[in-house]
Amino acid sequence: MNVLTEDDLHLLETARAASEKAYCPHSHFYVGAAVETEIGVFRGCNIENDSYGLSMCAERVAIFTAVSAGAQIFTRLAVSCIDAAEDDSVDSKMPCGACRQVLAQFMPPTALVIIDGAGTFLLAELLPQPFRMNME
Ligand SMILES: [Zn+2]
Repeated sequence: MNVLTEDDLHLLETARAASEKAYCPHSHFYVGAAVETEIGVFRGCNIENDSYGLSMCAERVAIFTAVSAGAQIFTRLAVSCIDAAEDDSVDSKMPCGACRQVLAQFMPPTALVIIDGAGTFLLAELLPQPFRMNME
């Protein structure tokens, strides 16, 4: 595990607190995320739906909340699966592929992603070759 700075730890604590708001009647797997932007920190939690495919991960809720508030610069994101046991595989604590693609849409490859119990990663380590639409 990488050494966390004071700021990293604060963002991670915010993600842990955000998980308390999770709506997860199906999985009972509480997840929280917090993203740091130029206009402040935004939180997200996982929100499930009886139609499973409509459920949304904490990371995307945090990013979309920040975007809807006008944020344009995303510097770091922390995510915490507070129900993952200490000895659970790191895999169960990692962001899913859909979230990695959304992070890559808004964050630079050098942005830090702090994953509770798994370590701190550069976004480029989590998704080395994201899909990009050539908008020229
Ligand atoms: Zn996800």
